[in-house]
Amino acid sequence: MEDLNLKDKVAIITGGAGVLCSEIARKLASNGVKTAIIDYKEERAAELAAVIERGTGSRSIGICASVLDKKSLTAAKDEINRALGSIDILINGAGGNSPEATTGVEQMSSKEDEDLSGTFFGLKIEGFDRVFELNFKGTLLPTMVFASDMTRRKCGAIVNISSMNSFRPLTKIPAYSAAKASVNNFTQWLAVHFAPAGVRVNAIAPGFIITDQNRFLLTDEKNGSLTARGKKVIANTPMGRFATPDEMAGTVLFLISGWAKFITGIVIPVDGGFSAYSGV
Ligand code: NAD
Repeated sequence: MEDLNLKDKVAIITGGAGVLCSEIARKLASNGVKTAIIDYKEERAAELAAVIERGTGSRSIGICASVLDKKSLTAAKDEINRALGSIDILINGAGGNSPEATTGVEQMSSKEDEDLSGTFFGLKIEGFDRVFELNFKGTLLPTMVFASDMTRRKCGAIVNISSMNSFRPLTKIPAYSAAKASVNNFTQWLAVHFAPAGVRVNAIAPGFIITDQNRFLLTDEKNGSLTARGKKVIANTPMGRFATPDEMAGTVLFLISGWAKFITGIVIPVDGGFSAYSGV
């Protein structure tokens, strides 16, 4: 069997200062990968890179850029090529939801005088724009800028971070669900397009991990206990708990490694069985 085959490869992790992707960066670095952490939180990216380099001995740099700004990504690529060399791996991790694209209620009621502000009719189109921009364009644009190193050398791996609600939409978050579904579709499209150029393109679909972007939906801000929605998530997860960032990192590591060298165009759910369970 092939080994992981990752020593001294160069990886970019967008959204790398976040909860999930910082763990992915750490896991890659502890397997000998040189990492470039791209985030618009400049200080956090730089601090994390320093901690990773100290802790793992693998070179790591933090770079301030926005996944929605081609100019800043092109400047980042120059810096990464100078500091670390040609790019082998891209993890498209920046993404998230917006409260403006989230309904207050899960379903409309049957009342004629229902207050519509918490329903579909109260959603803000600006919220939809923001969520589609970040999740879809924020995957597309970094791929356009960074993947040319891989196609030129006929070797490389891209992993997009989707979500398990891309398979079946969750209530309340229509923009996020649809935007992540578009990431799955793009993953398949690009996998076909890049296959002759030796670049594999896959995605993971994480289940629920508590982070800043979903804490307001899953836990009570005042006392940290689970909301009714949080309890529902656990009840519908056959393995009975939230996921940990480390569990996402393991699957990403597999997908970029030699162990997955004949895998392209797939989306792996890492969700404790949530997407397999009908609830009955
Ligand atoms: P997070 O908010 O901790 O991390 C996201 C990071 O992206 C942040 O550091 C943020 O600064 C950065 N970012 C946002 N906009 C950016 C931009 N324009 N340019 C550069 N960086 C930008 O969230 P997370 O939960 O770690 O999410 C990581 C990925 O996992 C996202 O794509 C998210 O949609 C996906 N995901 C998360 C969960 C979950 O339960 N947390 C579930 C499924 C999928």
